[in-house]
Amino acid sequence: MNNKIIEIEDIQKSFNYGGNLLSILKGITLHVSSGEFVAIMGPSGSGKSTLMNIIGLMDRPTAGSYRLQGQATEGLHEEERCRLRNKTMGFVFQSFNLLPRFTALRNVEIPMLYGGIAAFERSKRAQALLERVGLEHRLYHRPNDLSGGERQRVGIARALANQPSVLLADEPTGNLDQRTGKEILLLFRELHQEGKTIIMVTHDREVARWADRVVTIQDGAILLNDTQEVFLQKHGYDCGKPSLEPGLV
Ligand code: ADP
Ligand code: MG
Repeated sequence: MNNKIIEIEDIQKSFNYGGNLLSILKGITLHVSSGEFVAIMGPSGSGKSTLMNIIGLMDRPTAGSYRLQGQATEGLHEEERCRLRNKTMGFVFQSFNLLPRFTALRNVEIPMLYGGIAAFERSKRAQALLERVGLEHRLYHRPNDLSGGERQRVGIARALANQPSVLLADEPTGNLDQRTGKEILLLFRELHQEGKTIIMVTHDREVARWADRVVTIQDGAILLNDTQEVFLQKHGYDCGKPSLEPGLV
């Protein structure tokens, strides 16, 4: 677990908005080990998604350094960043972001289109991923004919399409009811146990407590960086770790 996959040092991010310079991230230092499950918490507008976009190589910081798998990312050209992103990062979204005209299977195949994988192989892999998330009976459904929880499972299968080292999930349970959200968290926990590094944004303490570590951001700076044990103690979860039984909450 000493193997750092993400090393962010004193990152700042400002946006030029209508002639005003808005300082959104104000010196964030964050290290994530390979195989860790980290939750990023904080109120709306605190900069969580901005930080996730930088971690996911979707955006560049204004200042500071970001090493991914030991490699400095600052000097990379756009094409190299794009390649590194596709190879390393899988994204899961609050509103699923599936393509409505395509089946679940096709949605999961889409990220593979850029990897030069033959059509037959793509379909086989997408099917295995949908089986992995428990959707073997929904391969040919379109997003509108799936429940919210099923859509998010397709979203997770799609995020896994290129076997990323890191899964980035921004409010993945934000559009789901509590029970369905918990089923999705159980799936994340399984992926974590299989060795995936997961970074999950949430503003919900009940969701954050599933992670190994909870980083709390406020106003663009890290306020707290708590292990799961400390987080559970602080918030009075006497019963300890969240239960594995989806029906219990
Ligand atoms: P969170 O995800 O914690 O709710 P965000 O990272 O989305 O917060 O946004 C933090 C702040 O940065 C917000 O005040 C938002 O309006 C501002 N912001 C985010 N992206 C941009 C942008 N592209 N241009 C200007 N302001 C932005
Ligand atoms: Mg956000």
